Amino acid sequence: KKLRREYTPSEFVEGILKGNITILSQAVTLVESAKYEHQQIAQEIIEKCLPHAGKSVRIGITGVPGAGKSTSIDAFGMHLIKEGRKLAVLAIDPSSERSKGSILGDKTRMEALSREKNAFIRPSPSAGSLGGVARKTRETIVLCEAAGYDTILVETVGVGQSETTVRSMVDFFLLVVLTGAGDELQGMKKGVMELADAIVVNKADGDNKQRAMVTRAEYERILQFLRQATENWTTHAYTCSAYTGAGIMELWNDVIEAFMKQGWGNGVLAERRKQQTLSWVYTMVEEHLHNLFYRSPAIIGCKEEIEREVVVGKISATMAVQDLINRFAAAELSGVNVKDSSPFEIK
Ligand code: GDP
Repeated sequence: KKLRREYTPSEFVEGILKGNITILSQAVTLVESAKYEHQQIAQEIIEKCLPHAGKSVRIGITGVPGAGKSTSIDAFGMHLIKEGRKLAVLAIDPSSERSKGSILGDKTRMEALSREKNAFIRPSPSAGSLGGVARKTRETIVLCEAAGYDTILVETVGVGQSETTVRSMVDFFLLVVLTGAGDELQGMKKGVMELADAIVVNKADGDNKQRAMVTRAEYERILQFLRQATENWTTHAYTCSAYTGAGIMELWNDVIEAFMKQGWGNGVLAERRKQQTLSWVYTMVEEHLHNLFYRSPAIIGCKEEIEREVVVGKISATMAVQDLINRFAAAELSGVNVKDSSPFEIK
């Protein structure tokens, strides 16, 4: 994507703070760009936006494809817009192949919402590692908050670690499920349920309503045996219909708002955000070190030989590690390593 006009970082920030959607979108494009120059500008913008960020309600949503996430976000989002809120919908989908339209691929999946001027919908950044995509989304959250979005929804499909990743950047995590009796529940990973602050059985309408209520009760029963996702908060199961809108308003008013009020009141959310920021820092440190190590000419030059030696049992694994680290450190000290890896780099 080409930027139509080159703004200075200050102009970007000014535009973002005014809530200019075009400028916000362009800044997000910079955040998502793999180009080093773009990343440098993006980092400057983010830093200037940080003091204006952090004041939103951050909600994560997950569920299998077809659970009704986008339909629910559409209904839920329209309710929020009517309440006078400004909503940003972002996605994390490392498996993203746009053609499959697996997630937020096209805005038509949120038809009503995409026409609202107070809704900012941003599809998942094009495929990359989960870590890379997650970093872009975290930074996009900062920009959206600075632009005045008071509610951020981060959507993900359950692939690999993506639920854990989204959990690590939101205050409240919602799991959308379907009816489907025992086997569905069996297949549901306990770990994912333990991340959720609420579970909602969607499509509780028409013939399906009764079954949805039964399913809700089953989830409720299982939840009793699971670890709670948030201190002092008991996760419950609910039903809703994104079609009829039943249960949507209640989900916001009675669950999420109550959660936010309690969490900010008792310090749990302040602590959660602090921990999230710190773990974000160290995740990036790890990525950066990882990149430096594997791209070091010193490592590339000796890796094969050391691997051979360790495989045939000539040296132990521990010795191999020691050797690799020593060579890396020596190369670092002597400046042999090319500094083509930056903490901002997207891989
Ligand atoms: P996602 O893949 O989780 O985003 O699921 P979608 O929102 O695309 O929904 C999958 C399908 O379920 C679509 O055909 C929707 O029209 C349908 N659907 C979504 N919500 C409801 C609902 O509340 N009731 C009924 N009956 N169908 C729904």
